[in-house]
Amino acid sequence: MTQSQTIGNYEITTVIDTLPGPRDPSQVFQSIPAEAWDPYRSFALDADGMWVTEFKSHLIRSTNKEGPIILVDSGSGPTDDDQGKLLDNLNALGVQAADVDVVVTTHCHGDHIGWNVSYKDGKPELTFPNAKHWVAKNDWDHHTQEANSDPAFDNSVKPLEDLGALKLVDGAETIAPGISTIPMNGHTPGHQNVLIESEGSTGVIIGDLFHNVAQVTEQTWCPVFDWNTDMSTECRQNLLGRAMNEQWIVFAGHLPTGSSIGRVIDDNGTSTWQPV
Ligand SMILES: [Zn+2]
Repeated sequence: MTQSQTIGNYEITTVIDTLPGPRDPSQVFQSIPAEAWDPYRSFALDADGMWVTEFKSHLIRSTNKEGPIILVDSGSGPTDDDQGKLLDNLNALGVQAADVDVVVTTHCHGDHIGWNVSYKDGKPELTFPNAKHWVAKNDWDHHTQEANSDPAFDNSVKPLEDLGALKLVDGAETIAPGISTIPMNGHTPGHQNVLIESEGSTGVIIGDLFHNVAQVTEQTWCPVFDWNTDMSTECRQNLLGRAMNEQWIVFAGHLPTGSSIGRVIDDNGTSTWQPV
């Protein structure tokens, strides 16, 4: 299943990699009491009160088929039980791994970097042989310190340097005309979003700025995955406020496909998610 949305001269398409199992929201949002979920339960949790998410990427292509093919995030990657379907799902959209010119990493958590490299006889090889991987310098600097080492980073991001495929991003940088990174630090030290501005329309691919649709209203709710909750909250409030005021289209990778592309609207003073 996939969903596409046009922003001016660009088409953005969701590409699922993995459908992980449901999780108990009290373990993911540990500071939020169960009853606080009640107003959101009917649409933010499943019938069993569990949080259902997806690990997916976004593909950005120009509508005239010119310009770079950009993939935002690379899923959780090949797993022992062969769950990761990113490459199959890209193929179904007519995109081969060698066609991808740029892979933007919103942040260096395992569910966003998994397909960057694959291993043959213990040696890393690029999955996307012609792509540069745009990784925020803040994340790179953080995880290359021994105290913050993370096997997912060591397996899937660190090898990019020796393979000649790493581009470190420092702040806002232009990827293609109208497409740029914007720093949204907090979820990780170098968490970044991708802004698409074309023909008067704006879209933003938000990485892990929020994980559950309830956070569009409850913008101070943070999952245990946030590295610095003060910073992640400030970014969430700023970006969702801008998205609402300027009528941006928001692409939220961890919401279920079908409702993961939407607008932030003001519903009688309450910031609310409205799928497109
Ligand atoms: Zn994530």
